[in-house]
Amino acid sequence: MMLPNFQNSYQWPFISLDQLDSSFSLQEYLQALIRKDRENVGALVALPPGQDDEVWQYEHLRQLCLELNHFVVQLETECNRETCPEMKAEEWLYLCAAHQAPQSVCMICPAQRYTYHSNMAKLVSCQCCAIDYIVHTLDGASTLLNSNRFFPSRISIPEPSLKHYQSIARRLYRIFAHAWFHHREVFESYENESFLYARFLHLSRQYKLVSQQLIIIPDGKLSSTTSRKVSAVSPVMVASPITETAPVSLANDTRASE
Ligand SMILES: [Zn+2]
Ligand SMILES: [Zn+2]
Repeated sequence: MMLPNFQNSYQWPFISLDQLDSSFSLQEYLQALIRKDRENVGALVALPPGQDDEVWQYEHLRQLCLELNHFVVQLETECNRETCPEMKAEEWLYLCAAHQAPQSVCMICPAQRYTYHSNMAKLVSCQCCAIDYIVHTLDGASTLLNSNRFFPSRISIPEPSLKHYQSIARRLYRIFAHAWFHHREVFESYENESFLYARFLHLSRQYKLVSQQLIIIPDGKLSSTTSRKVSAVSPVMVASPITETAPVSLANDTRASE
């Protein structure tokens, strides 16, 4: 698969960080690093000398959202309401967070569909199909990161806003996970050129953005498992916006995993 964007993206000449002099310095520097060698994720994630690691994470998250949009374009070629009516990855079922309050309908979804889960009395959820979930998640993350209220400056991050890093990363991870479990060829083809997941994982581990128990794509199997059949017989688990910290096992749910 050709990724036309990468060849032409961020094509300004490489300049070292001390030559940069704008409030977008770190973003430009990060994009220059990516253009120089996107495969070297260790070098991409390493904190540049003298920089604030909270701002550095912020720039990485913004950049991940930008590049994930390219990935979603590839994913849309085979992920749709028919192929993936639910946002799943292995035994996990993810509920769209575009509707935070119980009893609310998703305002993003054109259909504004919502589902009552009988064994989770209070949880009313729009059950977006996977690609809607993915688009909502990316939109939500980008909106949050661009919010003047939470991120008024690109030079320092208000302490209360740091907690959003983990929730953003956790949700972005699900996009990779869905792709890996359900669209392996698209995932691998994209990853082989972009190393985006490798970068994401490195960043997440370095800054503890996604807890290890939520990492469900097996390590070291990113390129040799295209034909591997994934079997999942464990109960469906729900990671909902209301129960963010721990997955809720729907052991009594009759919904079967693929
Ligand atoms: Zn899908
Ligand atoms: Zn929705």
